[in-house]
Amino acid sequence: MTFLGTSGAVPTTERNPSGIHVSREGEELLFDAGEGTQRQMMRFGTGFSVSHLFVTHLHGDHVFGIPGLLQTMAFNDREEPLAIHTPQATRRQLKGLVNALGNRPDFPIRISEVGDGDVAYRADDFEVRTFETDHDTRSVGYALVEDDRKGRFDRERAEELGVPVGPKFSRLHEGDPVELEDGTVVEPDQVVGDPRPGRSIVYTGDTRPTVRTIEVADEPDLLIHDATFADDRAERAGETAHSTARGAAEIASRAGAKRLALVHISSRYTGGVDDHLAEARETFDGEVLVPQDGQKLVVPFPGNEDD
Ligand SMILES: [Zn+2]
Ligand SMILES: [Zn+2]
Repeated sequence: MTFLGTSGAVPTTERNPSGIHVSREGEELLFDAGEGTQRQMMRFGTGFSVSHLFVTHLHGDHVFGIPGLLQTMAFNDREEPLAIHTPQATRRQLKGLVNALGNRPDFPIRISEVGDGDVAYRADDFEVRTFETDHDTRSVGYALVEDDRKGRFDRERAEELGVPVGPKFSRLHEGDPVELEDGTVVEPDQVVGDPRPGRSIVYTGDTRPTVRTIEVADEPDLLIHDATFADDRAERAGETAHSTARGAAEIASRAGAKRLALVHISSRYTGGVDDHLAEARETFDGEVLVPQDGQKLVVPFPGNEDD
């Protein structure tokens, strides 16, 4: 994944407004598209083959990049449809942004509203879940959750049992029993281990700390959380419906997250984010980072397995 924009509502020369690009086995997903998102995509080499755009809420710093991005996609003669997911009761407003282009692009754009508990997108082996967040407008967060993966195939054991190397191996791995030449039946659980958990990423968008973030995914590999302020402006965080780094870290800790990325950094912190890091680390034992724009992260499989 690539952090395209990590600033709060007002961008800085270092940080663009919100945008996160996720590339997963050839499929590209975009979460929020603040002003300038398309240029960030060019700078950081993500390409424009996004199939789904997930919008957390309709504040400008999360959506003003949509018209420009769509216009460039149209100039590129895009034909593939684009699905845009947006919180309930915001479809009309989002349509206004699409219509701001004047000429509607030739490729199909599907806009759908999503609410708490909805699966915004179900793919072959993962889904993107929606959860309600606590901001000062209609807002949701998203969790990309992979299905469990098949258990490990014990090749040695299969050979011991007399299974010939070849298609019977894959049938067993797929979960089907196979019959050997002497009539013996080998069951999958004799040679295939327990299913292994997939990966998960949770992105809150703008929010106060909320329990729904903890509930949406079990021990996420990565939690990307609003951390607009540090402790010095904790009161302001509550008033403006945002979080502090410490508040984000408490959620990460309670969710059992493995890594925490603090984003939506207020322009008041151009001097540095040392306080964000220190305060979060006091509260959360896992890895904490405040990504720069353009920073890329690979999310490994749980337990750092070799595949
Ligand atoms: Zn924002
Ligand atoms: Zn906002």
